[in-house]
Amino acid sequence: MAWTSELIVHDEAIRANTEHFAAVTGDRLMAVLKADAFGHGAIAHAVLEAGARSVGVTSIDEALALRAAGVRAPILSWLNPVDADFGAAVLADVDLAVSSPALLHAVARSAALLRRRARVHLHVDVGMARDGSPITAWPALCTIARELEHLGSIHVVGVMGHMSCADQPDHPQNLRERLVFANAVRTARRRGLAPAVTHLAATAATVTGVGDGFGLHRIGAGLFGIDPSGTSHALRPALSLVTHVVTSREVETGTGIGYGLDHIAERRTHLALLPLGYGDGLPRAASERAAVLIRGRRRPLVGRFSMDMVVVDTGDDEVAPGEQVTVFGPGGHGEPTVAEWAGWAGTIEHEIVTRVGSRVARVHRTSTGEAQRQEAVDA
Ligand SMILES: *Cc1c(COP(=O)(O)O)cnc(C)c1O
Repeated sequence: MAWTSELIVHDEAIRANTEHFAAVTGDRLMAVLKADAFGHGAIAHAVLEAGARSVGVTSIDEALALRAAGVRAPILSWLNPVDADFGAAVLADVDLAVSSPALLHAVARSAALLRRRARVHLHVDVGMARDGSPITAWPALCTIARELEHLGSIHVVGVMGHMSCADQPDHPQNLRERLVFANAVRTARRRGLAPAVTHLAATAATVTGVGDGFGLHRIGAGLFGIDPSGTSHALRPALSLVTHVVTSREVETGTGIGYGLDHIAERRTHLALLPLGYGDGLPRAASERAAVLIRGRRRPLVGRFSMDMVVVDTGDDEVAPGEQVTVFGPGGHGEPTVAEWAGWAGTIEHEIVTRVGSRVARVHRTSTGEAQRQEAVDA
């Protein structure tokens, strides 16, 4: 194996997580594969084989890329600007979530030009003041949607909402948002709409159960082993970031390391240079906190992270160029996990997994056995 950096995607873990959510949602699983599947790359076919019924993404571009990759399942795209290419989405049979009259008219106009009907999910803000129609504007949005349905340019197939505090199951906001959503669905029906599906819950709301009782579950993070509520023990992390030592050196006590010489060696030690930096997604905020696994032991990263490289203190061990380094992984061999990296950087796991840069090759491992074998050989 070449001494490059690799982001190893454990497809088997993603399949297992998908099967778990297909089971707990009663086969009403929409796999959320936005942001390059949370940084995990080409995984759509695997999750659809493992039980997901449809796919959710943010932009139309993401949806079209999935269609180009041969995904035939229903796809929903839920965040686009008013001037997006809605016609391309309609032609590719991509469902569109819509949250304002301006968006609704733009979608309807594109579909009418093609003499097609756009499949629309009306998106209501149930309480986080982010995306979704403000609840005050919801009845009017439903009325416009009904008029456009009559004209034949759209078909409202769904109503969606998204919860703000589902990772805290006891938060009083959860009940409030469920009620707002149920009322919004009722309003839509009263205005003559007949959405076939409703969907409120994402990973946290599904794991904690606070979003149960509606149709689909839109699961993203959970497919990749991330549980925002921290309560599930059924999920498996699905990424390993590995690299190789470029050079190593011995330094004397008192040697300053990296920009600003922030880190001073407290004793004679060995330093190894790794070809990954914040430009590759290692969060700079984790400088002086993070560790990596080399020769089966954790070693601290020392000094400020650079854009392209970091320095690791290997103590008495002089490591050789090319030796394998595990930056993070599922944790089964003592390596740091994505959750630990998130803690070191003061962020959430989502940010760590979505930020690994394009210089790092994505390598899919279809069985965990193979991935382990590779680690064992290289270690
Ligand atoms: C990202 C996203 C999801 C998936 O959320 P997870 O917590 O990752 O499962 C669902 N719905 C919307 C609107 C989203 O933006």
